Amino acid sequence: MSDCIFCRIVAGSIPATIVARTPDAVAFRDLNPQAPTHVLVIPAEHIPSMAEADTDRAEGQVGKAMRLAVQVAKELELDQSGYRLVVNTGRDGGQSVGHVHVHLLGGRRMSWPPG
Ligand code: 5GP
Ligand code: ZN
Repeated sequence: MSDCIFCRIVAGSIPATIVARTPDAVAFRDLNPQAPTHVLVIPAEHIPSMAEADTDRAEGQVGKAMRLAVQVAKELELDQSGYRLVVNTGRDGGQSVGHVHVHLLGGRRMSWPPG
């Protein structure tokens, strides 16, 4: 989708600090980090939100993005201290970009419950 900023990051038509990439998923630094490490991991294919992800195809795409998030966490040496994976969904979930993205947050102790 050409009007989706995350599709444009996948295509390389807008810049991002890419951390890792597979044919199916891309990991890049969040523009406005909320933790010492804040990486977004997205499926390369446009899926608007998790509310649209209840299909066999989306299961594969989201699963691969989640797997890349786990691999990036390991590469950034967060796996011993721990980290948080968050997928905000829809208005009440706080989603502001309409392309599924996993927030990988680490490097500080997270609080619970979320705000
Ligand atoms: P959401 O609020 O949808 O869960 O998360 C969207 C995230 O995307 C936010 O943390 C925001 O900082 C990040 N973001 C929005 N636009 C851009 C962009 O153009 N580049 C990057 N790297 N991050 C972005
Ligand atoms: Zn998109």
